Amino acid sequence: MLDIKKIRADFPILKREVNGKPLVYLDNAATSQTPQQVIDAIVDYYQNYNANIHRGVHTLSQEATDKYEQARIKIQKHFNAAKSYEIIYTSGTTHSINLVANGFSELIKKGDEVLVSAMEHHSNIVPWQMLCERTGAVLKVIPMNQDGELRMDAYNELLNDKTKLVFCNHISNALGTINPIEEIIEKAHKVGAAVLIDGAQAAPHLVADVQALDVDFYTCSAHKICGPTGVGMLYGKEEWLNQLPPYQGGGEMIAEVTFEKTTYADLPHKFEAGTPNICGGIAFGAALDYMNGIGFNEIAKYEHELLDYATQELLKIDGLKIYGTAKNKTSVISFNIEGIHPYDMGSILDKLGIAVRTGHHCAQPIMDFFKIPGTVRASFAFYNTREEVDVLIAGVLKAKSMLL
Ligand code: PMP
Repeated sequence: MLDIKKIRADFPILKREVNGKPLVYLDNAATSQTPQQVIDAIVDYYQNYNANIHRGVHTLSQEATDKYEQARIKIQKHFNAAKSYEIIYTSGTTHSINLVANGFSELIKKGDEVLVSAMEHHSNIVPWQMLCERTGAVLKVIPMNQDGELRMDAYNELLNDKTKLVFCNHISNALGTINPIEEIIEKAHKVGAAVLIDGAQAAPHLVADVQALDVDFYTCSAHKICGPTGVGMLYGKEEWLNQLPPYQGGGEMIAEVTFEKTTYADLPHKFEAGTPNICGGIAFGAALDYMNGIGFNEIAKYEHELLDYATQELLKIDGLKIYGTAKNKTSVISFNIEGIHPYDMGSILDKLGIAVRTGHHCAQPIMDFFKIPGTVRASFAFYNTREEVDVLIAGVLKAKSMLL
């Protein structure tokens, strides 16, 4: 069982007040909070071995390089990638997806088809639309049902020998749905399509084994798993990463440069132009250490209890509707109360010290599907408590009485 009191003590921010009330932080799907252990790793870097990496012969540079590369190996082990150079450091999920979409410009041709799920974050839609505009490929959408589950029957019908790529999130940020990615990957591979799974929302809740999944690309952002902003990773199978051209040119990504011709560095450096977020990479490793120290099985079990409790209590409120009622979902609850704009609800909750997200959650097609402008989204992490759920419920009731 998780010792929540002890865990909460690791997060200095959870002690603060907002608008004179104890902070109740329920916006974890947007970004998670940072434990002292990760803050310490950041401070340690700047206090003790801040230096540029890979190029320096001096001690600080070597120490920074070692720590940065050790963190890459932590990420590799966490996701069970076969090789450390299949892990590319990026600035986050958005960067990772753009890197792949840009690379596929050279591998996709007019008339090819690419499939995207109906419940994607904009960052897993727009780069592919841009790819289609560049190449003349056709973007097709895997629809979902009213519970916010992908329609696998429709997916089967969409797949054909023109399908070259499938992209889907592991977990939806707006609905919390856990998608059947094993089946999605297996079926895509049967028609020869490559699959990119956006793991931004899955990484905080479960561990994806990229080899067992046989996924071609998997990506996440450190800031959603107790790490800092501005760093993330792209896993790619070696054979795909070798086929994709570099995304950005510059220092670090070259083997040799002359004015006539430049040759590129081997993986992973081919995709890592310029001075990277060195401290961020090291802190990403520290965040994985922290979360693995708590244990993902325990985290998932506890968060599920919070999800069930919060769902049950929210549904007792008259006029409240939850969007995303999939059987298999994680601790994200999107809801609205009839007659109340989500922004008004969010503003009153903020006055009560409760942080939730309001709006379209960078997933406008989902809002269009449900014919709503947006939702209020409460998303729970392993450091939240049942008492905080009670504060949320009381806050929603109070807001309702003020607004209706
Ligand atoms: N995909 C999903 C499912 C997300 O939830 C997010 C972040 N909200 C992203 C992609 C983009 O992540 P980032 O902003 O860290 O690049």
